[in-house]
Amino acid sequence: MTALVQDRLQRPLGSLRVSVTDRCNMRCRYCMPEAEYVWLPRAQILTFEEVTRLVGVFAGLGVAKIRLTGGEPLLRHELSTLVRAIRTDGRVRDLALTTNGILLAGQAAALRAAGLRRVTVSLDTLHPERMAQFARSTRHADVLAGIGAAQAVGFERLKLNSVVVRGFNEDELVDLIEFARARAAEVRFIEYMDVGGATQWSLDRVVPQREILDLLGHHYGSITPVTGDDPHAPAERFALPDGATFGIIASTTAPFCGACDRSRLTADGQWLTCLYAQQGIDLREPLRSGASDAEVAALIRERWMGRTDRGAEERLGLAQRQPLYPVAGLRADPHREMHTRGG
Ligand code: SF4
Repeated sequence: MTALVQDRLQRPLGSLRVSVTDRCNMRCRYCMPEAEYVWLPRAQILTFEEVTRLVGVFAGLGVAKIRLTGGEPLLRHELSTLVRAIRTDGRVRDLALTTNGILLAGQAAALRAAGLRRVTVSLDTLHPERMAQFARSTRHADVLAGIGAAQAVGFERLKLNSVVVRGFNEDELVDLIEFARARAAEVRFIEYMDVGGATQWSLDRVVPQREILDLLGHHYGSITPVTGDDPHAPAERFALPDGATFGIIASTTAPFCGACDRSRLTADGQWLTCLYAQQGIDLREPLRSGASDAEVAALIRERWMGRTDRGAEERLGLAQRQPLYPVAGLRADPHREMHTRGG
């Protein structure tokens, strides 16, 4: 049986978000609102063999849940090859993908055939003109086609992530629930977060979980919490009176750091133990200079056992909340960007 590694707050090392590229083909205002970005040098991006090897090391330490992210992960050539390689590791019980959906229609079948079971597609609005304005992309139809393809190839679970931003899409909550329901998907509303990259964040743009529930309750009637879910999952799930379910990720107003088993691997091999962590540790360099799996595992184990991160809870305690970094701070180190950290 795999040994559990726990941090100093007794949180297990349980899940890993693997960013396969920092590049993205959208420019969402809550993540990449600037005109220009500093990209990670290509020579430093982990190869699929390196990612697979690191996933194996993490799996040996108890990580059973892997989520592939970006940037936009489908920009990485032949992503299904990586999916197939990770799927050969029986210790990875849950392999999922988060995508903006633009390229999904062309890749859904290959990803499913490679063994991917779960997909989450970001869909903040059902209005193409809103997406054009908010994310500087005119490819709304491609996103919808991607969702349709995901449904058609039969992923076991299909989720839609919607970041709720006041003045942009808080009038679409019911429409998004109904859109998801019609596609056997589940929507998860995400509070707008003050993370790196969100340089235009302000508290008055956040639509809190309480308000989301009130808005939906007003439309549907009594909403009840779903019990018995994975205690480490970031979303709290709720049921409508007719049994349809949805989730809310209340990272900004009701953070869940106390149950956080997540860490993040950037596309160039930095390992971060919190979304808000100032710094990670470099796993690429030891890998490329000949370290054994046991040596890499020792680095990971030691860092996790010393972990005390509670980034979102600490932000909640601030008297005055501002964006985490000004633009100059992000330029100084692109690893601070949310699109580099895998969201
Ligand atoms: S802020 Fe950090 S510790 Fe808290 S839930 Fe997010 S990743 Fe986990």
